[in-house]
Amino acid sequence: MKSSPFEHWDIETAKETYGIDHWGNGYFDVSDDGEVMITCPVNGSDTVKVPLMDVISGMKDRELDMPVLLRIENLLDQSISNINEAFRSAIKAAEYQNIYRGVFPIKVNQQCHVVEEIAQFGNRYNHGLEAGSKPELIIAMASLPSDESYIVCNGYKDEEFIDLGLRAIQLGWKCFFVVETPSEVPLIIRRSKELGVKPMIGTRIKLSTTVEGHWENDSGDRSIFGLNSLQLVEVIDQLKAADMIDCLEMLHFHLGSQIPSIHNIRQGVQEACRYYISMINEGAPMGYLDTGGGLAVDYDGAQHRGTHSKNYTMDEYCVDIVEAVMQTLDPLNIPHPVLMSESGRATVAYSSLFLFNTLDVAHFDPVFKVEKPSDDSDETLKNLFEVTERLNPKNVQECYNDAIFYRDEIRHLFNRGQVNLRVRAQAENVFLSIVQGVQSIAPSVEHLPEELTNLREDLADIYYGNFSVFQSLPDAWAIGQVFPIMPVHRLNEMPTREAMIADLTCDCDGKIDNFIGGRKTLPLHPLKKDEEYYMGVFLVGAYQETLSDLHNLFGDTNVVSIRINADGSYDFMRELHGDSIADVLSYVEYDPKSLRDKFRNTVEKAVRRGKISVSTRQQILAAFSASLSGYTYYEN
Ligand SMILES: *Cc1c(COP(=O)(O)O)cnc(C)c1O
Repeated sequence: MKSSPFEHWDIETAKETYGIDHWGNGYFDVSDDGEVMITCPVNGSDTVKVPLMDVISGMKDRELDMPVLLRIENLLDQSISNINEAFRSAIKAAEYQNIYRGVFPIKVNQQCHVVEEIAQFGNRYNHGLEAGSKPELIIAMASLPSDESYIVCNGYKDEEFIDLGLRAIQLGWKCFFVVETPSEVPLIIRRSKELGVKPMIGTRIKLSTTVEGHWENDSGDRSIFGLNSLQLVEVIDQLKAADMIDCLEMLHFHLGSQIPSIHNIRQGVQEACRYYISMINEGAPMGYLDTGGGLAVDYDGAQHRGTHSKNYTMDEYCVDIVEAVMQTLDPLNIPHPVLMSESGRATVAYSSLFLFNTLDVAHFDPVFKVEKPSDDSDETLKNLFEVTERLNPKNVQECYNDAIFYRDEIRHLFNRGQVNLRVRAQAENVFLSIVQGVQSIAPSVEHLPEELTNLREDLADIYYGNFSVFQSLPDAWAIGQVFPIMPVHRLNEMPTREAMIADLTCDCDGKIDNFIGGRKTLPLHPLKKDEEYYMGVFLVGAYQETLSDLHNLFGDTNVVSIRINADGSYDFMRELHGDSIADVLSYVEYDPKSLRDKFRNTVEKAVRRGKISVSTRQQILAAFSASLSGYTYYEN
């Protein structure tokens, strides 16, 4: 689609168009020469800027082909500092009489480099880990450098899970078993008695507070997690009967992820505090209140309570939790508990971005110059052409209808064998030129008919990106998650195309046609010959890496971690080459060696039959082996 919606273009327009200042949290900017810069806090308050295109060229030098997931270690560190400092300030300002201890829920990004970085950097804040399964508990116990950090065990726990947690307590950790159902309690009681270790028990409460947004069903009566008041009584009675009520120290709740409204969070904390008080009244010592996850990321930068946004800052989140707890507990002179939270999304989202190149573009523009058909041409084609001659702002609707009518008529004629391919192609060409014409005069039409308002989307280009939505942006496919996406260079040029993005999978869901701000298309630049066009999908550090799947057998992408130094230089800390074709084949139970053997037999047969020479055989086998060890994505 040709006409550009922009009257003028400069770096400010670029920033506004892609919303980078709104969703970037100050971590990304655009340079005067039109490149996205990572704006990284170093040494507390200073920031340095690193052009993303430099990082991309460093990847190229290291033979790390697109697509690449880029992690910026500094941004991960920054997020951990942010939440800890925000709670510290809120606690100080309100004179709250206890501390904050965060834990990172491993399920949000289990990748070794990420968890190690959180454990190492987080150590200065005693930031711990949350485990929802045995493998995650094993990660936590092996990664946390100090026993000052907490471990929280959620999820269903079998004997082995419980034993591991009790061992963690023996080793000095505060390791909480969060009870999700009363049926877990007898096992905890039995194993702790058998091992002679006093457990630290928490209860996950099912609040009646419901939240807005995508995870609405994680909250409220029908939430699949947590104890209702009846079950809580059952748990308390079980512990009392075993003479273990003194082990009940924590209350946990989790209202769901990405809670867009601060009001819901406040309400949840207030309700949870009532349970907290009740548990003290029942004789439990308590002392720890865990407010779970839910701290949202403003993916579209709108700062409102929409599904992809939030109407509060991290500071407000912390202040509201601290205040809500004090307001509920202070009138009863109940000592302030250690405040805990399990922020996953907000901790890791910013630190990763996904980069891909563009392979091709499909346009919906006329391909040939539109010329008047000769007098002996098909009548319908001539009628269609006439529409181009009378199109004006007063008759757009009529012309549009006529164009569709004649185009469909030509298609019928073609299907009946009455016009040939050339005529049909000519007609489609004329049709596209009419629709383009309608689209370009549409803005000047006063009462634009409904069906003409979507023309922009109907005529949008399709940019083919070198990636798989299913592998790299699974939430975009599965739950309609919107991520900020933009070109990472050429931002000093006006984007003259409107496009949706398709991936490499041949699946009709393998596309992105939902962008921030509710847009169905993204303004992009025309591709240049012999020059790559790179786009970035930002804020992808949470949930995207491990929910991914092998649709069409596109495997893990290359991963690069960088650390930015105070002088603006940066180091490639880690690089992980993505799956080879042999890797992904072995995931679905093929044995690369036996594939090679079978193929060898086929090729050898061709030699025997005289179809190919022995030297061609060698070339074919070499190419097959090279492919097996190659990247699953498009390689240049
Ligand atoms: C998933 C989950 C979290 C993380 O939630 P975020 O919204 O990503 O912060 C925290 N706690 C529990 C129990 C979870 O299941």
